Amino acid sequence: MRDIVPHPAPPSDTHCTPEQYDVMYRRSIEQPDAFWLEQAECLDWSRKPAKGGEWSFDPPQIAWFADGRLNLCHNAVDRHLPSRGDAKAFLFEPDDPSTPTRSLTYRELHAEVVRMANALKTLGVRKGDRVTIYMPMIVEGAVAMLACSRIGAVHSVVFGGFSPESIAGRIMDCESRFVITADEGLRGGKAVPLKANVDAALDLPGVAVDGVLVIPHTGADVPMRAGLDHWYADLASDADCPCEDMAAEDPLFILYTSGSTGKPKGVLHTTGGYAVWAAATFRYTFDYQPGEVFWCSADIGWVTGHTYVTYGPLLNGGTSLIFEGVPNYPDHGRFWQVIARHEVAIFYTAPTAIRALMREGSRWVTPHARSSLRLLGTVGEPINPEAWRWYHDVVGEGRCPVVDTWWQTETGGHMITTLPYAHDMKPGSAGRPFFGVEPLLVDAEGTPVTGDGEIEGNLCIARSWPGQARTVHGDHARFTEAYFSTFPGKYFTGDGARRDADGYWWITGRVDDVINVSGHRMGTAEVESALVLHPKVAEAAVVGYPHDIKGQGIYCYITLMEGNEGSDDLAAELRQWVRKEIGPIATPDHLHFTDGLPKTRSGKIMRRILRKIAENDYGALGDTSTLADPTLVDRLIEGRQND
Ligand code: ATP
Ligand code: MG
Repeated sequence: MRDIVPHPAPPSDTHCTPEQYDVMYRRSIEQPDAFWLEQAECLDWSRKPAKGGEWSFDPPQIAWFADGRLNLCHNAVDRHLPSRGDAKAFLFEPDDPSTPTRSLTYRELHAEVVRMANALKTLGVRKGDRVTIYMPMIVEGAVAMLACSRIGAVHSVVFGGFSPESIAGRIMDCESRFVITADEGLRGGKAVPLKANVDAALDLPGVAVDGVLVIPHTGADVPMRAGLDHWYADLASDADCPCEDMAAEDPLFILYTSGSTGKPKGVLHTTGGYAVWAAATFRYTFDYQPGEVFWCSADIGWVTGHTYVTYGPLLNGGTSLIFEGVPNYPDHGRFWQVIARHEVAIFYTAPTAIRALMREGSRWVTPHARSSLRLLGTVGEPINPEAWRWYHDVVGEGRCPVVDTWWQTETGGHMITTLPYAHDMKPGSAGRPFFGVEPLLVDAEGTPVTGDGEIEGNLCIARSWPGQARTVHGDHARFTEAYFSTFPGKYFTGDGARRDADGYWWITGRVDDVINVSGHRMGTAEVESALVLHPKVAEAAVVGYPHDIKGQGIYCYITLMEGNEGSDDLAAELRQWVRKEIGPIATPDHLHFTDGLPKTRSGKIMRRILRKIAENDYGALGDTSTLADPTLVDRLIEGRQND
């Protein structure tokens, strides 16, 4: 039986009791415009919106608060100066715990954002321009985002683990003419050559930008190209820099998803709706109270870092911790040491990190004080109940509610989530829908699956919500195709789900083919494309397989060009190759050389078979009759067993 963990008694200042949830949820569905216009009042608008949602899903056309005007940076920073100018906006914990920590009050953050915004203006950045941000997890990464939103520029943050090729692709796709980077980053004691990667990206054919702003971090000696690269200090100034007045539907940022079906999609979010969604989800899901230290361990290169490192906390006048390092450096107790050091109240991380640390044992956790912790959260993939239990019982000492938050780059913020004092918890379930979210299950034909008992199907969302992505940058047809064509009239999430008889939602995984390695998602197609670029590789098929630490590992089936033979050396070379092409997160875990791939007669690779073999599960291969060469399966199994 699935267990239930009762929610703690609601504190007197909670934002949402069980009774309030029922009333508010019903109102958010029955009177969505009134509900969201009311929620929008938590922001400062230069022109208050009178319009709520104006949208259609067939074809998709989405707007919220369209007649409103505001600036997001003003709302995240300036507006708090009179009331909480001396309160901490950011705390910073460096990669090496023996080097100094740092903190910024709202007043100091304001000064820093103004300096960076002025630097961007001097560089030539104007309203509407796209700016690529390729930064380590340091305060300046968030400052760069805020500086862009201050002057109305559209940021495109590229995760610092991506390769020059990936940066180049993203720069070209959104026609970004400016880059903000640092000399180097630091992760787990190792330097990450960020500036050098940007240089390499800009050396690739067809990539050209007008200016690169370089933030000194490690002090490494990096070559600067005259007329192109500029040190931050040379362009920064304290001159007055007013916030640009933006329409609610002006673009705020572009963020590339992993791209399961070809090249990554530049998901576009706009200003007003995203701001309301970030503010509301942060406030209710974490039941945030002023003064609490909030720590989201995600990188700002992912949407989780956008919404819950930068925007959500600051829109609520909160204190957000930025951590440069990794969970296992200098040892496996680092997360808990950081929590003790900064008296973190709310900790938000991914199941893959929880599993990795659980494996090292509770003895790394217990020496560090966790009395400051009030609430724990997870995001990124389904959490297995065993890891949930460990997180709740050991890390949270059994007293902290755990919120499991299901959402996507495209949703801007939480969609299905436990609310900490309103909902009992079921380990492994993401809980119930957030306000305004109407999940819907459909079968393969698109027919809604209904009923009071347990139901399962493809997870769709029936109506728009303010934080919804508006398009794929420069390719609205792809937006339509990816999310609104499989089940016309509905937003299709790409995930499968089950809703139990109590109304709790269980995400069963993605319906398509994406691998999730340590919480970093990438399309199998991207890894395959990288592999076949190697001169010795003829064809590649990549599948995920269970991996104790990473959640999923990358398993690559490879056929070689005539005259080549698989060897350990070639395997090492291919690993290196993929690292260079995509980045270290895409490093193959297992390479399986084979003389052929199982294909249908029409030439499609049968991935379900490859997945089973990678999983060492040969009993349930299913129908193999449509294979062009059925004998191949036996050879593949033999190859797997001989590993
Ligand atoms: P792409 O759309 O290019 O394939 P992606 O889906 O991997 O990229 P994200 O938007 O970061 O990129 O991830 C969202 C997905 O992560 C969800 O669709 C779901 O599969 C998974 N996910 C996120 N949070 C949870 C959760 N709490 N429980 C279960 N799955 C989750
Ligand atoms: Mg997705």
